[in-house]
Amino acid sequence: MIRLVLFDIDGTLIRTGGAGIRAFGRTADQIFGKPGGTDALRFHGRTDTSLIREFLRTNGIADAPWNVRHFLDAYVFLLDAELRRHPGELCPGVRELIAALRALPEPPLLGLLTGNVRLGAALKLVAHRLGEEFVLGAFGDDHEDRNQLAVIARDRASRRLGRRLAGEEIVVIGDTAADIACAHHIGAHCVAVATGGESLADLLARSPSVAVDSLEQISAGWVARGGAQSENATQWENLYQIGDTRWDKGEPAPGLVDFLSRTSDAVRGRVLVPGCGRGHDARAWAAAGHTVVGVDLAPSAVTAARSLASPSAALTFEQWDFLRPDNGLTEFDWVFEHTLFCAISPSQRDAYVEAIHQCLRPGGQFLALHYLQPRDESGPPFSVTVAEIERRFSAGFELLQHWVPPSFPGREQRERMFLWRRRPGAIRKLRS
Ligand SMILES: [Mg+2]
Repeated sequence: MIRLVLFDIDGTLIRTGGAGIRAFGRTADQIFGKPGGTDALRFHGRTDTSLIREFLRTNGIADAPWNVRHFLDAYVFLLDAELRRHPGELCPGVRELIAALRALPEPPLLGLLTGNVRLGAALKLVAHRLGEEFVLGAFGDDHEDRNQLAVIARDRASRRLGRRLAGEEIVVIGDTAADIACAHHIGAHCVAVATGGESLADLLARSPSVAVDSLEQISAGWVARGGAQSENATQWENLYQIGDTRWDKGEPAPGLVDFLSRTSDAVRGRVLVPGCGRGHDARAWAAAGHTVVGVDLAPSAVTAARSLASPSAALTFEQWDFLRPDNGLTEFDWVFEHTLFCAISPSQRDAYVEAIHQCLRPGGQFLALHYLQPRDESGPPFSVTVAEIERRFSAGFELLQHWVPPSFPGREQRERMFLWRRRPGAIRKLRS
């Protein structure tokens, strides 16, 4: 469970359009008589203090505490002036994510982890009405090494909570390699967001828990569960981001289309499609008149699914871990799965069966389109046999029928559809 979420400011919460950089330049010029003296500095991900000391050293000025202080005193006034002229903009999804985090049943502490000095950070936040959102932080005047700022932020939050926070209870959200590195330094999760200029590919290369185009792709529940929740989420997200989605045929599974056409007189109900990917099957259910929720681990899949669907209350997509016992998905009339079971490692399959059972109302139906994989290979897809499917599901479900469906080319005779009805009662009792 995440107890602390630390936000970087520039490029993550706010894009100031270079107000800080201009204020640095004006300070160098007006206070130190060095026009252009900060032009060679690389600002991304740096702390203000380290930038000032580099400016001093490269301009032949004593790298002394009083010169750093002198610079900062002028800088914050000039920054204020710059922000009044050009406040810049909030990054997409910021206000919504913060509001959603605060609305969680057990909201984590929200803090700042920024290279800005404390006053500079306050000026930027106030300019965008974010000044009240954060209860603690670590700043560029606490330390010039960002990794140490992560330690300081963690320790401040620990004191506030009255116990030592573990790295796995912390998420760092930032837009640069330096943010990812400082998260790694304290063993925290890291959400890297490509709103600050660094590309997704560059961010991914630094191994964050996950990298996203914008914070719009991240739900509060997801952050509160550890950024990526699991290695699994990261792996799937990465496949979407590098475009390696070979399982996605761009249309609903022929077996599902066939089933829906044959059961067009069935009672319409609520349908859950776990592992929905880009939502092709979910859209087919919605087109058949059902109310559909598609969920997927990968934020990029959910973003794509939403963009491919016409806006409708009857078809929604959420970024969610279907396998979590507290996933909050219950009382569905139908669950449909398509090549999800084969992607779940055998060690997680008990959890998978229980999740299906939990999501359905008693008497609800589970329609599964399984990809059979008789050999035991390191997946995904992992080994799937008819015998295993029947063994795993029969405790909690009554098998109504199974058949060989029409398939995508290349998958003929490798697929099998099963229609189950959920038995009443808890699955553990049914099994024993
Ligand atoms: Mg930044």
